[in-house]
Amino acid sequence: MLLIPCPHCGPRPELEFSYGGEAHIARPRQPAELDDAAWANFLYTRRNTKGAHAERWRHARGCGRFFNVLRDTTSDKILTSYPVGAPRPDPRAADSAAPESAR
Ligand SMILES: [Zn+2]
Repeated sequence: MLLIPCPHCGPRPELEFSYGGEAHIARPRQPAELDDAAWANFLYTRRNTKGAHAERWRHARGCGRFFNVLRDTTSDKILTSYPVGAPRPDPRAADSAAPESAR
């Protein structure tokens, strides 16, 4: 089981969270102007990253807030978490800044 560091509550077990998919996916400003291929690309195309991957999570059974997690998909290790709206941290810096409980 993962121990996920909520930026508002601290480390909590994975069972308290719901996964929200890849982070930093911007909704098109004028969705009605997109053709079907562009809309399908927005809805379904994701990076499937090997290595540091930015994900959206929600602390559903805690504070209820959304936040982002940087997780290494090869080791399942959580590198860091950060609030929604904050820029994606550099994975090399995030690894050394992660709380001990998240390593
Ligand atoms: Zn929380």
